[in-house]
Amino acid sequence: MKDWNGICHRCAKKSMVHMTSIFDEDLICMKCQLAEANHTMQETAAREKQAAIRNGDLNFPGIGLPDDLIVYQDSVKPTEA
Ligand SMILES: [Zn+2]
Repeated sequence: MKDWNGICHRCAKKSMVHMTSIFDEDLICMKCQLAEANHTMQETAAREKQAAIRNGDLNFPGIGLPDDLIVYQDSVKPTEA
């Protein structure tokens, strides 16, 4: 698990709040979380994660990030506020 350092792991923008991705182990900002929540794979990801936890796999890494949620990680650098 990566640590939170004030920068969204996915979009590389500064954020005051963060949460864990349902798809992988990224710590992500509200905007990225919203994108996940609206994704068609979100239910599947949540179900798989819950099933893993039920089976005692507390380190389940997630089903993997859908291609269309992989955000501009190379093009967007952290911006100075
Ligand atoms: Zn983000």
